[in-house]
Amino acid sequence: MCGFIGIVDDASVSGLLSMSLQALQHRGQDSCGIFTYDGAHFPGHRGLGLVKDVFDQRVVDRLVGSAGIGHVRYPTAGSGVLEDTQPFFERRPGLIMAHNGNVTNYEALEALLRERSIHLVSRCDVEPILCLFADEVMGQGSTAHTAEHVVAAIQATVSAVKGAYSVVFVMEVDGRPTLVAFRDSHGIRPAVVGRAGNAWCVTSESVALDALGYSLVGDLAPGEVMFFRAGEEPERHLLEVRLSTPCVFESIYFSRPDSVELGRTIYERRLDLGTRLARHFKARGLQADRVIPVPDTSRPAAIAFGEELGLPCREGFIKNRYSGRTFIMGSQAGREAAVRLKLNLIRSEFEGQRVVIIDDSIVRGTTIRRLVKSVWEQGPTEVHVAIHAPPVLHPCFYGIDMSTEAELAAPDYLKAPPREGGPSIEEQRAMEERWAEDLGVDSLTFLNVRGLDTVFPASRCAACFDGVYPQPVSEAHKQAIVRDRTCARPPN
Ligand code: SF4
Repeated sequence: MCGFIGIVDDASVSGLLSMSLQALQHRGQDSCGIFTYDGAHFPGHRGLGLVKDVFDQRVVDRLVGSAGIGHVRYPTAGSGVLEDTQPFFERRPGLIMAHNGNVTNYEALEALLRERSIHLVSRCDVEPILCLFADEVMGQGSTAHTAEHVVAAIQATVSAVKGAYSVVFVMEVDGRPTLVAFRDSHGIRPAVVGRAGNAWCVTSESVALDALGYSLVGDLAPGEVMFFRAGEEPERHLLEVRLSTPCVFESIYFSRPDSVELGRTIYERRLDLGTRLARHFKARGLQADRVIPVPDTSRPAAIAFGEELGLPCREGFIKNRYSGRTFIMGSQAGREAAVRLKLNLIRSEFEGQRVVIIDDSIVRGTTIRRLVKSVWEQGPTEVHVAIHAPPVLHPCFYGIDMSTEAELAAPDYLKAPPREGGPSIEEQRAMEERWAEDLGVDSLTFLNVRGLDTVFPASRCAACFDGVYPQPVSEAHKQAIVRDRTCARPPN
């Protein structure tokens, strides 16, 4: 998962890019970068770590130009190394590009490019998109690239690239610095457009626009290409219209609550999820004295859960905002100390109480296990866990970091292999009971896949919950992901 922003204006954009990347920092903390265009050169800077550590005034002042792109990265393909850090630059035709998403036919694209004597230097999957597009636009046979050339090159690129992606790039089009954005035909990964005065901006989340004081114009449509130039109305081209299937996990977990997607704040969606979850909890005949959210994502759902059941919602977990990385520790005691450093508990909120802990999702199952252990140490009389999402039963191939079946905890608690459409109410109930027993809690409640219907549009990607993938994924790519993940990061 990543975050991007592209801006075109009359004045220098590097200061705005570095500021807005801080608003997008939750989308990726491994590395970040900014490239700009001043009409002749493409100065850039990329580094490993947080935006505030990679960019200082001296670096930002060096990045001159009235058009540019910024990116924060969390690696779902490739690794956390500098070569994989975006944006990427291509000398011919003179182009900078960044994206959010996952290419699901990377191996086929790599082979296609090799046939054209083009070799990739990273494992970052924006690179094949960039190389393919650059080759296509150069193949138009002119050095004066027109919007028509660019649209034709994008059309050829998206016909070859499978997966979920929102892409931004800057190049000279019709003799002017131009910001261009396009989105896959299903619109799985988000992209919103904003403006202020003569400036235009495209970004992963509207919070970046808020940080800059830009107003939100709307979402980039699936399959749409937009050209932006300072002081002009954007030029729109629709390549292909398919069913829009935005990712529901963005609203459940990933996006900031103050972001707006498809006309609604993520905060409102999380309130709705909490209300639905409370009804499930009540329908099971379960009771509690208080609701305690696991910070930060699940707070809105916990507030709504409490309101629906007439229960107080209290803070019981305190996050240490200043803890940095904890280093690999050999002993169990060392590992537990590292967890306590990041999240401490307020004993008075748990002791003698029947508590229901609200969390956003369970993927690998190790965090919730540690959490439950520390909750019991505070002396509650009952511990219930309620999750404001359905169980994650299938991998995500579209850019969220859960891309192999082996890393998911939920399938282990189903009697039969997960099937398309999600488990029935009865199957899910049995799964919850088995898992609650294993976890050592009084109950575990998830939303059912059908519980998403009142919160999200009918047309959506919820494949990690129901196994219905809007874009097919080849077996070769699934195998490649498994190989890539053998040296993957530690579980959470
Ligand atoms: S599979 Fe899940 S996480 Fe991946 S895009 Fe679809 S809804 Fe989002």
